[in-house]
Amino acid sequence: MAEDCIFCQIVDGEIPARVVYEDADVLAFLDANPLAPGHTLVIPKEHHETLGDVPPESGEMMFAALHYLTPIVEDVVGADGSNVAFNNGEAAGQEVPHVHGHIIPRFDDDGGRPVHAVAG
Ligand code: C5P
Repeated sequence: MAEDCIFCQIVDGEIPARVVYEDADVLAFLDANPLAPGHTLVIPKEHHETLGDVPPESGEMMFAALHYLTPIVEDVVGADGSNVAFNNGEAAGQEVPHVHGHIIPRFDDDGGRPVHAVAG
């Protein structure tokens, strides 16, 4: 755990979050500032700043959770698709330095813009 990391504090229950999935290695919760209904963040419980810092086995757990959760999130909010994305590093707009994947539900009538246009 990194003392001053918001997402580590969510993992430890010190900061509330709307958790949608949890296992021994991974936590998923609704984004506090959603770009779309159901916008979900998937994080490894261990603190790693960027994808390049994540050990392969933790990366596999995170991808497995993204793979499992993406269709479920889409179903729950009635989405037609989703953007699954990482902002990797400060230069790429990563605001929270604890690696996280975004699942951003998309809808046929939401304009069909790619994720960089949606997030920008
Ligand atoms: O990829 P990036 O680092 O820019 O995204 C961080 C995300 O974490 C934002 O979408 C923000 O809304 C979310 N967040 C959150 N809960 C917090 C702090 C940030 O859901 N307590």
